[in-house]
Amino acid sequence: MIDGFGRRIDYLRISVTDRCDLRCRYCMAEKMTFLPRSEVLSLEEIAIIADRFIARGVRKIRLTGGEPLVRRDIPDLVHRISRHLATGTLEELTLTTNGTRLAHHADDLAAAGVRRINVSIDSLNPETYAFITRGGKIDAVLAGIRVARAAGIRIKINMVALKGLNDHDYLPMLRWCADQGHDLTLIETMPLGEIDEDRSDRYLPLSHAVAQIETACRLIPIGYRSGGPARYYEPEGMEGLRLGLITPLSNNFCTGCNRMRLTCEGKIFMCLGHEDHVDLKTAYRTGGIAAVDESLDRALIAKPQAHSFAITADGTSGMTRRHMNVTGG
Ligand code: SAM
Ligand code: SF4
Repeated sequence: MIDGFGRRIDYLRISVTDRCDLRCRYCMAEKMTFLPRSEVLSLEEIAIIADRFIARGVRKIRLTGGEPLVRRDIPDLVHRISRHLATGTLEELTLTTNGTRLAHHADDLAAAGVRRINVSIDSLNPETYAFITRGGKIDAVLAGIRVARAAGIRIKINMVALKGLNDHDYLPMLRWCADQGHDLTLIETMPLGEIDEDRSDRYLPLSHAVAQIETACRLIPIGYRSGGPARYYEPEGMEGLRLGLITPLSNNFCTGCNRMRLTCEGKIFMCLGHEDHVDLKTAYRTGGIAAVDESLDRALIAKPQAHSFAITADGTSGMTRRHMNVTGG
């Protein structure tokens, strides 16, 4: 699949649910109204749509949410999609999780062919973690990571930089990742959906994190590309650790964008930062697989060149109404 700007689209992110057992302050408001189940794609529908994407050239699928591991039929969905790993038509099936239920699911994920996952931890400090997530318990996440590692799954930690919340936690996180053999990606907070506070109060450009880390070790740029928006570095003295930086606000990354996003309510968003979408659920429910293919063609043509987020001292612009949990991170 080639879009209107010549970019090859071979990566699909699927948000399998908008629900979550945490309420991270930068992601959700404390009180959220979730979608009625009838509006959310069934397992069967997700699997069929994923099949069509794979038939059209998608090579990598990431399941996300909301929290993918709170969806009850997630093991079945993983096994359905993983059949394409066995045939070689799909190169990678992975997921992004908050890790709270990883201990329960890790062996099954590994058995289905999941080889690496992203786990979101914004601080290793139990109090800070509980505050940011509004009640999360870091010990459960760390236990889940241990089970996943024992099952042979590699871990990348996602950490969102948040002014006044975790802006002294970068070095402890980096050292812990080096010690445990995990990769680490730092992310700037993005203006996705209304939350309970003003985002410009929490936004910090990653240059701030880099400056802190470089008081302890030099960051050596490495040529590695994941096909995603991160730029990668190896911290001096931490051989093998890949530190990724995702800077949607301070450094736009759209020229190499290779992805589309399927929301849990069956919409394809061609860009995280735009409202334009194609409604695959209605297409499938009214016109079957042929209508899905036709919608995919429309989505490719409509993929915009770039997002338009900004967070400055004057406030936030380019904000979408959707929260990250609907679109999928
Ligand atoms: N619940 C899972 C988790 O937390 O990993 C998967 C979904 S979550 C929406 C995916 C990723 O998006 C997480 O790493 C989270 O930290 C990040 N995220 C959520 N809201 C964000 C925002 N407004 N700006 C930047 N990253 C955000
Ligand atoms: Fe839930 Fe993930 Fe959003 Fe946190 S970032 S509230 S874990 S969906």
